[in-house]
Amino acid sequence: MPKILELEQHVADLIAAGEVVQRPSSVVKELIENSIDSGAGVITIEIASGGMTYIRVTDNGCGIAASDVKTAFLRHATSKLKNARELEAIGTLGFRGEALAAIAAVSRIELLTREPGANEGVSLRIEAGEILDIYPAGCPEGTTIIVRDLFFNTPARLKFMKTDRAEGSNVASVVLKCALSRSDISMRFIKDGKTEYHTPGDSRMESNIYSLLGRDIEAGFLPAKSSDEVVSVKGFISSPVAARGNRSYQFFFVNGRTIRSLLLQSALEQAYKNTLPSGRFPSCVLFITTKYSNVDVNVHPAKAEVKFVSEKHVFDGVYYAALGALNAESGVKSEGYNDTGNVSSSGGIRYVQTEEYKNAFVSEPSGQYKDYDRAKSTKNNYSAKSYLINKLNPEPYAMNTSDPALYAPDPIKPYNLYPEKDSISPISYTQAPKIRVIGEALNVYIITEYMESVWFIDKHAAHERIHYDALRSGDHEPMSEALITPVICRIGHDDASLLLENTGFLENLGFSVESFGEDSVAIRNIPADIDISDTESVLSDLCSQLKHGGAAEPAQQDKIFKTIACKAAIKAGRASGRAELEALAERVMSGEISHCPHGRNVAFEVSKVTLDKGFGRI
Ligand code: ADP
Ligand code: MG
Repeated sequence: MPKILELEQHVADLIAAGEVVQRPSSVVKELIENSIDSGAGVITIEIASGGMTYIRVTDNGCGIAASDVKTAFLRHATSKLKNARELEAIGTLGFRGEALAAIAAVSRIELLTREPGANEGVSLRIEAGEILDIYPAGCPEGTTIIVRDLFFNTPARLKFMKTDRAEGSNVASVVLKCALSRSDISMRFIKDGKTEYHTPGDSRMESNIYSLLGRDIEAGFLPAKSSDEVVSVKGFISSPVAARGNRSYQFFFVNGRTIRSLLLQSALEQAYKNTLPSGRFPSCVLFITTKYSNVDVNVHPAKAEVKFVSEKHVFDGVYYAALGALNAESGVKSEGYNDTGNVSSSGGIRYVQTEEYKNAFVSEPSGQYKDYDRAKSTKNNYSAKSYLINKLNPEPYAMNTSDPALYAPDPIKPYNLYPEKDSISPISYTQAPKIRVIGEALNVYIITEYMESVWFIDKHAAHERIHYDALRSGDHEPMSEALITPVICRIGHDDASLLLENTGFLENLGFSVESFGEDSVAIRNIPADIDISDTESVLSDLCSQLKHGGAAEPAQQDKIFKTIACKAAIKAGRASGRAELEALAERVMSGEISHCPHGRNVAFEVSKVTLDKGFGRI
């Protein structure tokens, strides 16, 4: 065994830095949190080249005393925590005393700070953890930190950085969340010289949301509120009509801290259980307040997750806040609820029915949470998640392309009506067989007479296959439709930059995507067969697939083709014209198509013999 040595301080710092500082956005998050903790009322954040070369955060907070400036950059140096007992009830955003040390270890820092009322301030420069100089300086009250050349001394880390555009949009998304969390602080975010966000800091949640998320989102929000002895919830949730194709506008804050939480997400979505179709998600800005001692914030290196002492209370708090808001909009009164029957909203959308409401609200108030709890306690997180997703989207027609089981052929085969998988024998046109489309049943199945048989064709599956083959063959020009006015999809920073990195690939599919502000893209062309109202949901599906592997990966490409094909296919349930039915039947009968991309049969045959037997003719 090699001898065990204690790591040199500088190596230990670099390792520790890796946990706290992963990319420019993590630096910005830590610096803004420090500014918030300093009691500032105004915070300005400025970055250049995605934050890789330049980050500056200025606040008008309490400043750092000249005698403490050096200490602030030591690992585990904090003014926010004195002993282990205090760790149980943390009211500040920071507490580990690691951020400044970690950032300093991997960049070049300049700090200017002055305590209010102090005669002069201090200027300090640090490079890769080494203090270059420190001297008294005249400066405004508060603190300014400039971080240059992040990871200049850790080339391995530098390699993992994405494009400046992608890093910049990560930063923007962090700033957005911090700014949303505090309507009492005016924050300004400047990116490459341009102001991206500027919040009023007037302590009004509505004006804060308006300035950050824009008018459309704010207008679709309903106020939501609930409280019990443990948890209070306050904020806004989206009205069902304003639902989106993804979850990027779900913002949860626990005691002012932005967090990710499957618990909160599912509590919110359960409230919409009967009002949203699968694939549509509510948005929200919700503030959950509970005693500090009810939350453990010390469970994640970047403090992005928390643990609740009483998950059930928190779940119920969010669930009932959301349900109450939805019911208020649809005209249901929370108190004095009566049995007058179905309730529909003024806009004609059915929100909640008496029985559903009663079941959810009166008889088993914690039933919803139990579902979550049971799912969560299954061994791994992933299955808990998919359980929840299935629970939340119980629609039979949910086109969940990642779940092959949905497309598995039906195992029950009555009589011998169903042919074996490949029983559609190709028919050559020299026979010039006559195909007669009898009609369409249930808006799904084309009924066709052909030779000595009646054929049932699944319209959607057939269409899907045709599109899929066309995309896969790659040798056709994508059928693209130019939109008269571009569709603006507000899909969040991450997805927007992902799409912009893949414009070439998207063009081959028939989309043209352009940048449109921080968190949106403008779509000028869409594949001809995609419904314009599906644009955003198709793009957000594509994003989740692109995240799992680049567009260059064949397996991923194939999945993307399947998604597009599925969306482009005529949806089952929509009536089609005669010409369309005939064209589809012809392609299926010619043997060109026998299975949809997911392996389901496209057609099955009931032969004359079978029919005759069934009727006792033979
Ligand atoms: P933590 O925030 O966990 O305490 P940091 O490394 O982020 O650790 O900061 C160390 C200390 O430096 C803080 O505890 C605080 O006293 C001081 N500090 C950092 N940034 C600021 C700021 N913008 N204004 C005032 N004090 C600050
Ligand atoms: Mg801190």
